[in-house]
Amino acid sequence: MIKKGVRLYSILFGKCPHCHEGEFFEGSFFSGKPKEKCSICDRKYSKEPGFYQGSYYVVYALGVAIFVAVWVFIELFIGNVGFNGILFSVIIGLLVSAPFTYPLSKIIWANLFFHYLEEKPGEEKMDNEGDAS
Ligand SMILES: [Zn+2]
Repeated sequence: MIKKGVRLYSILFGKCPHCHEGEFFEGSFFSGKPKEKCSICDRKYSKEPGFYQGSYYVVYALGVAIFVAVWVFIELFIGNVGFNGILFSVIIGLLVSAPFTYPLSKIIWANLFFHYLEEKPGEEKMDNEGDAS
């Protein structure tokens, strides 16, 4: 269905954003802690110290998406529950989804900066130079 080479593959299966083979998270998905580097392709998962602080923008976006989804669901299927009803439902929705959004935001953030099988910065492809024949 979703094949390697598509960012969604890395995000959904918690794989390395570069090779889509190695595991991205230390331990399970729910640990939310990215490994230092990929065990398969050796690519570092961080570009600079504090790299994953930027993932809070993604958490925010996911939170807004959950807020809208819960609100639309209530309006369509439940009806008028009032302001407090919507507020309570959104808070419950955010709390229930928090264990998913936290790790998800990190791997989405990593996928914004690492691309499938891109070359390492400063690393050039091997050529045949010096190959005297
Ligand atoms: Zn890798």
